[in-house]
Amino acid sequence: MATHTEEKSEIRCVFCNRKLSREEIVRYRGVISCRECARSQRQIPSQAARPFFLLASIGCIVGLMTVEFNMLYDLMHRQVLLPSYIPPLPMYFAGLSIAVILQSLGFYAINRPINRNLGIEVAVVGLVTALLQIVSVMDIIVNGPFVMIEEVLYPKDFTNYFSTTHLVYSLFMLAAGLSILVEIGRTGIENGAIAAGALYIASGVTVASVYIWPAVGLVHILMYVVVFVYFISRRETPVEKTITTWGYE
Ligand SMILES: [Zn+2]
Repeated sequence: MATHTEEKSEIRCVFCNRKLSREEIVRYRGVISCRECARSQRQIPSQAARPFFLLASIGCIVGLMTVEFNMLYDLMHRQVLLPSYIPPLPMYFAGLSIAVILQSLGFYAINRPINRNLGIEVAVVGLVTALLQIVSVMDIIVNGPFVMIEEVLYPKDFTNYFSTTHLVYSLFMLAAGLSILVEIGRTGIENGAIAAGALYIASGVTVASVYIWPAVGLVHILMYVVVFVYFISRRETPVEKTITTWGYE
């Protein structure tokens, strides 16, 4: 009688591609693998991530306050329709630059255990965004709120080069949203994470395509609230999934 253990099935481990006997097969995170690979997948190095997540949460609060202030300011002053009306851009860019830098730290920490490069990429887009926002603030402080083109004064708003800064900011949000969705693929489906990823993408699209403050503001406020909850509820390391044996004897 052929022993059970010698009998190799056609089933292979998804990690090491080794043919497995029935006794060796285990199920881990919904895939079939050998026990050794399942064990090594579980051992995600523990790195202090909590401080990064807390900083990112603070960044969300700063972002929330910034967009809320801008939205209310716009609703109060827009009716005046002065030709020189300028939204409070220095405050807007200064607040968002702090918010973006802090969120970038969170994205670095989230992606670091498994996909370090993705974390660095999102953080770099964030830092470029923040840099442009800081340059915009400096520009207004040093050169004033107007540009002169052929002896005509134009207010600095989102109809001139500030829109570039705005577009890079929307790029950051798209990258952030996608990286959250990629992370879900590895750590399991989680409603909060799906909402955070989707709202980042929605905000990025809104910022790039809509120039109506209250509309941009509302999507932003919703996004920052959900992303705040997302960051504050992050754990130090992803939840360990149990290794179960293959169903049949
Ligand atoms: Zn294996």
